[in-house]
Amino acid sequence: MREFDYVIIGGGCSGLSLAYELEINKMLDNKSLAIIEPRQEYKRDKTWSFWKVNDHNFDDCVIKSWNTFTINTSKNSNELKSQKFPYQSINSGKFYSKINSKLSSNSNISFFKNLTELDISKSIVFNSVIENEPDKSELWQHFQGFEIETQKDIFDDSIINLMDFDCEQRDEVHFFYTLPFSKNRALIETTWISNLEDKSLMNYDFQLENYIKRNLRINNYQIKFTERGAIPLSRNFIDQDKKKINIGSAGGMTRLSTGYTFLNIQNHSKYIRKNLNNMEKIQDFKLGKKYEILDKLFLKVLKNNPRKMPEIFYNMFKGSTDSVIKFLSNKSNIFEDINIILKMPKWLFIKELINNDKY
Ligand SMILES: Cc1cc2nc3c(=O)[nH]c(=O)nc-3n(C[C@H](O)[C@H](O)[C@H](O)COP(=O)(O)OP(=O)(O)OC[C@H]3O[C@@H](n4cnc5c(N)ncnc54)[C@H](O)[C@@H]3O)c2cc1C
Repeated sequence: MREFDYVIIGGGCSGLSLAYELEINKMLDNKSLAIIEPRQEYKRDKTWSFWKVNDHNFDDCVIKSWNTFTINTSKNSNELKSQKFPYQSINSGKFYSKINSKLSSNSNISFFKNLTELDISKSIVFNSVIENEPDKSELWQHFQGFEIETQKDIFDDSIINLMDFDCEQRDEVHFFYTLPFSKNRALIETTWISNLEDKSLMNYDFQLENYIKRNLRINNYQIKFTERGAIPLSRNFIDQDKKKINIGSAGGMTRLSTGYTFLNIQNHSKYIRKNLNNMEKIQDFKLGKKYEILDKLFLKVLKNNPRKMPEIFYNMFKGSTDSVIKFLSNKSNIFEDINIILKMPKWLFIKELINNDKY
């Protein structure tokens, strides 16, 4: 059986990001890498969006960047701007082909469909595959998006609608999200934060068709691309096996209050590359204890008070936009944290803090 210095289990976002980071920094010139990936072909399957609070390797895969976004509830609407931190969307198809074409030029890198083809006893193993199925009764961010094309120019492509709560909530947290890539093309997503047990929330096609017609007042359009996903907003499924270094969603790179993962994956890849010869440190890469504590409390409030959430999200974005972006992207300082905390309904948060229910 073949042996490799490094093995990456799962050639998705985090596995390929790590391989690319190692390759462009010449860490694979004299070392071998095996990537285990069962998929038959790479094609666009996701759109990764995030605030660009730090540099990453994939600017050339960005579909579009925006500096203005809105948040709506049924009563209020707020337009916010950030010149410093643009919101970016990455086309996963371009990302996969850029990385795969770079990796194919190095004969030290090989792809395999199955781990059983290798002897990994002497390899450093990175794992991005979630082995324990996350609990369906916990909170998830689940969603479906249609990328649509219209005949006429309809969208203002300089503004994204980050959260539109002016829709049916059904005692859960529900919003629509619109990313206009051009004046006649946009990705529109219906997003729920709830458990995965209530299947009635998952008639996504109907929700999207209804929203596009009633709220956006668009009757003629073509669906060019559909994406669907469910991101677990918990960490209970994370495998504690110390023999592997977990990366990506399996490695806790998802920010629990938002589902944002992409930029954390990029920062984790850079951290691994810098510490590759000092492996015991790598286990320490975390998004930050304060965010873990605050996000858990936030999700407890959300779970027990879903009807209050549109207003809570709306109020969070009052004040300095850059500070909120930094907070949501794990880059805030203590003063910015305090400012955000002060905008939350104090008694509600204190009540949930002393309430013994787990989240
Ligand atoms: C539809 C969707 C949209 C998202 N949008 C955003 C976003 O806008 N912004 C953001 O920050 N985050 C987003 N996320 C969250 C997160 O960024 C992505 O899920 C990201 O792909 C996570 O990367 P990963 O490497 O952990 O997992 P994946 O990218 O899923 O990679 C895991 C890989 O493992 C492979 N695999 C599966 N089983 C095995 C096995 N047994 N052995 C070996 N390999 C295996 C899979 O084929 C896959 O290629 C989104 C998630 C989804 C599902």
